Amino acid sequence: MIRIHILGSAAGGGLPQWNCACVNCVAARAGKIDRQTQSSIAIGASSEEFQNWWLINASPDLPRQIETAPWLQPRRDAFRNSPIAGVLLTNADIDHALGLLLLRQQEKPLVVYATDETRAALAWLDRTLTRFCGIEWRKVSSDFQRLNGSIGFRAIDLPQSVAFQFLDEASNRLALVAPAVSKLTHDLSQASADSDVILFDGTFWSDDELAAVRPGARSARQMHHLPIRGGSLDFLRQSPARRKIYTHINNTNPIVMPGSPERAELEQAGIEVARDGLEMVL
Ligand SMILES: [Zn+2]
Ligand SMILES: [Zn+2]
Repeated sequence: MIRIHILGSAAGGGLPQWNCACVNCVAARAGKIDRQTQSSIAIGASSEEFQNWWLINASPDLPRQIETAPWLQPRRDAFRNSPIAGVLLTNADIDHALGLLLLRQQEKPLVVYATDETRAALAWLDRTLTRFCGIEWRKVSSDFQRLNGSIGFRAIDLPQSVAFQFLDEASNRLALVAPAVSKLTHDLSQASADSDVILFDGTFWSDDELAAVRPGARSARQMHHLPIRGGSLDFLRQSPARRKIYTHINNTNPIVMPGSPERAELEQAGIEVARDGLEMVL
């Protein structure tokens, strides 16, 4: 059995974002919709092993996320320890990697799985952490490799990022975690076709969404995020997965507002919107 726990469901900046007064950020500050921290997912096997949890991306909100998740906190029988075994990075985005710096008090080197491109792009962070715990880099592979317990995982190459597919070796069930998707590739389609659960990039509803709050802003596609409308919506609608969930959601995205027509469209399509603390079992 694999447990998947959404620590943070928002894209970079979170909800609300410190300098943003869009409709959603104003509503979150007013307590009308729930605040959401930045994108990170914890995955663990139900095993006796203590160091059982892996993080998919490490956001700047990680210390706060750990404090809201008792199973990610240290055991009380020793002063310094953590049930977090390591981190898997989908890309080198600041909102996915900055959390690594915040784990610098770690005693042993931090175990981080990433592509060579992501590792190269994070050379600055690697150098900074050398003065602390350092990083033990591990390569990702397109073939399944053992993560721990009964979890296998593999990376699906995408332009500018990877998605991860997790296999529960006990039940043979699969989960696809793809919080940064710029293109629906053949490999990604295949992986989603046989996955039981799909967590998918829901950064933007529309391609021109950001320009409405910041004139001259790049489009979703220029920022390597496939928008939902005209992008991933039909793909997910048609997917046979038991649960399909948008995550890594930007604060400007109308799907975070309950009752919005965009949210209703997702509900009709059988697609959920992630929120901090959402948990599922594979
Ligand atoms: Zn991101
Ligand atoms: Zn906003």
